[in-house]
Amino acid sequence: MDLATPLTYVKGIGPARAALLEAKGLATVEDLLGYVPFRYEDRSNMKTIAQLAPGEMATVIASVSSAKLSGFRRRNLGMFEARFSDASRAVLVGKWFHGGYLANVLGAGLKVALFGKVEFDTYSGDLTMLHPEFEILSGDDEGDATLHVGRVVPIYEAVSKITTRLLRVFMHRILETLGPLDDPLPEHLRARFKLPDRSTAIRDTHFPPPDSDLRLLNAFRSPAQFRLIFEEFFWLECGVALKRSKARTVTGIAFEIDESVRQRVKRMLPFKPTGAQKRVIQEIAADMRQPHPMNRLLQGDVGSGKTIVAAEAAVIAIENGYQVAVLAPTEILAAQHAFYFRQILSPLGYVTALLTGSFTSREKDKLKQLVSAGLAQVVVGTHALLEKDVEFHRLGLAIIDEQHRFGVLQRLQLVQKGAQPDVLVMTATPIPRTLAMTLYGDLDVSTIDEMPPGRKPIITKHATADHIEQVYSSLKRQVAEGRQAYVVYPVIEESETQAMKAALKMYEHLSREVYPDLAVGLMHGRLSGDEKEDVMQRFKQGRIQILVSTTVIEVGMDVPNASVMVVEQAERFGLAQLHQLRGRVGRGAAQSYCILVTEKMNDAARERIRTLVDSTDGFHISEIDLKLRGPGEFFGTKQSGLPSLRVANILRDAEILEIARREAVDFVARPPSEEDLRRAVAYIRDHWQRRYGLVTVG
Ligand code: ADP
Ligand code: MG
Repeated sequence: MDLATPLTYVKGIGPARAALLEAKGLATVEDLLGYVPFRYEDRSNMKTIAQLAPGEMATVIASVSSAKLSGFRRRNLGMFEARFSDASRAVLVGKWFHGGYLANVLGAGLKVALFGKVEFDTYSGDLTMLHPEFEILSGDDEGDATLHVGRVVPIYEAVSKITTRLLRVFMHRILETLGPLDDPLPEHLRARFKLPDRSTAIRDTHFPPPDSDLRLLNAFRSPAQFRLIFEEFFWLECGVALKRSKARTVTGIAFEIDESVRQRVKRMLPFKPTGAQKRVIQEIAADMRQPHPMNRLLQGDVGSGKTIVAAEAAVIAIENGYQVAVLAPTEILAAQHAFYFRQILSPLGYVTALLTGSFTSREKDKLKQLVSAGLAQVVVGTHALLEKDVEFHRLGLAIIDEQHRFGVLQRLQLVQKGAQPDVLVMTATPIPRTLAMTLYGDLDVSTIDEMPPGRKPIITKHATADHIEQVYSSLKRQVAEGRQAYVVYPVIEESETQAMKAALKMYEHLSREVYPDLAVGLMHGRLSGDEKEDVMQRFKQGRIQILVSTTVIEVGMDVPNASVMVVEQAERFGLAQLHQLRGRVGRGAAQSYCILVTEKMNDAARERIRTLVDSTDGFHISEIDLKLRGPGEFFGTKQSGLPSLRVANILRDAEILEIARREAVDFVARPPSEEDLRRAVAYIRDHWQRRYGLVTVG
């Protein structure tokens, strides 16, 4: 048996079980060994029931003395209660709500290991565990009993019907027959970090040696676990580093930045850039001068001033005789960008064109001619920009805003309109730098971590819907002081039409009944491009005081005089979205407010609202978002390039990621020998590529 052996060769794994494992991506011995315990229990010298103290998390081994199902008429809804006893003759009661299914599982006489929080039920006087995890120790003859008790025991997440106990048996069988493994990890790293060799690390992770520290194990920091986590990150980061060094061999445009370009850039700036803006434009400029295509991510919180940095990059490209494409996810944002770029660039004599889906085909044709003739230096647009017949005269820089809304493919479509143009992608969902550098693989990362001066932090309040009248009157006071406000209604995912109806209804209610004397406007996704533009302009000019809207304004609106953002049914929005919406205010000198109005909340919604009330820091908020939703959902599909890690966890193991990353970058840049590097590249190509779906390496 070796690592590549299919799991059906393991005793006890027939076709049915193999299929269940396969569905989880576990096909070979190596795959299964990578399925590590998520928790460990010390069953070597355990307490008896009599020794348990209320409040502690504990494992006990006991037998079922009686069990009953009570409560509701429908069995599935009932409460299942089992009484357990052991040699100490004390009693522990296990309780499971909706536990009807257990009636056929936990019969009297069975010996089980129970794990959970011990509580004291003052009503009955019993020691209890609510919904304890349990493992039946008698009743089947799989494996050796000493595997499951009398030691530190690994606990696995069950794979469908394959229980933790069965998995333990399979792991044990595999490890018994598996020969010694090659260790692909470079020798100098093993020595420097005192890492156990690969075989030992795998063995000790599944079956920790007797003297193991349980707390370290459960924190995933035993030497064996550390090695596996480090290793996984190390190969991942080597792959990323190799990919990048390969990108550096592609020939692109080497923009020239001489004194006159520098002066033009400077003259264009409408304000003094912040230190962070200066730093990132230098990073971008340095990339642009390189004779290789730039692939850079510019991240910064909403309102941190990414657009002007993009405009600076644009000027560099234009001064070198190239065109610039700016891709935005919504019409409003595209229009906003076009407006901004026009304002800044027309004094320099540059033409900015706007191309969105809502133009007539005649208008589009005229614009396309302008672009292909090179008469427009900057072309801002939505998806319409990606259409085949949009041709550039000489595309040199592609800027993609809110990149998480576009896939890798769309990025490629835009880039292919030029000959290896530089690429700058921007995002307002910033994540910690190391994480970004890992997750966005082929992108270098620049971060704006400073807000423009004079901004007051937005005050965020939570109100329940029954206090809506107070919300409306505080909004009125702000407007009386000359400010403007947004009132936003949730988009129901499936239907922008429904959202429009909700907003329309509210618009009528607010404009007729609540604010008959104020100028109330309405914005939603079903308006034509011209209508949207018109509403936007009227709001900008202050002719609309209160703008009722769907989430189409989430990105793009930049009206410094707007100081109140009311979000209704805020419980229906995600964290990132609420933070973006809030970012529409707080753009001027006045104190701004965000009021989150909720109707029905569950725990997750409550957590989101609390996070926003407590913090205005986008980095912090996206970290919480990441925690609440998990990396998979946070980053979206495979398209986003998120590697599926097995042992390592990017949140829990962030510090190890940082160490591994440093070592990987160093290793690729200065391998101890050519042979070391060659071996590493071969190893990554054979193993890593399949597991992480990396397209090209080395
Ligand atoms: P975002 O990063 O969310 O795209 P924007 O680029 O829209 O942010 O900038 C937000 C607002 O701040 C804009 O009105 C912009 O003109 C202004 N701004 C950006 N940088 C500065 C600065 N250094 N000083 C003053 N105002 C700035
Ligand atoms: Mg922006």
